[in-house]
Parts: sequence; C-alpha cells; structure tokens
Amino acid sequence: MPLIHYTACPVCQSAEIDPALQAVDHTVSHESFAIWQCRQCTLRFTQDVPDAASIGAYYRSENYISHSNTSRVS
Ligand SMILES: [Zn+2]
Repeated sequence: MPLIHYTACPVCQSAEIDPALQAVDHTVSHESFAIWQCRQCTLRFTQDVPDAASIGAYYRSENYISHSNTSRVS
C-alpha cells in the first residue's frame, strides 16, 4: 500500500514541519509510526500513513488538479 509522506502541513500547507514523537500501534499492525508537528499551526499528524486512510491525500490531489489547470501565457 502506498504511503503518504507529507512535505508540508496538511492543514496550512506550511513546509515547517518536524518530527514530534514516535508512536506504536499496539492494536493492529504493531508498527511504529512518526507523529510530526507543524510549527505554524501546531497541528500534529501521522507521517507516512497509508493513503486510503488519509483525508490529506484527497486534499493534495485537489491541489494537484488546480495547479495543472493553470493557464499559460504565451
Ligand atoms: Zn500547519
């Protein structure tokens, strides 16, 4: 399953994001995952999450569409 690796805050789009803590999923996968925090809005979010579980993935794909629709000046 592909993972979402955030390079910007999913909420405010700031690139000032840092690892905040490491958590372990004791219930399902027993894998550890990283919680990152945004310096701008203090949001904490899970880094490298499966994309199906992520609202951020949907948000990012909408961003991608709006960027690709940018009209050219020639
Ligand atoms: Zn933010």
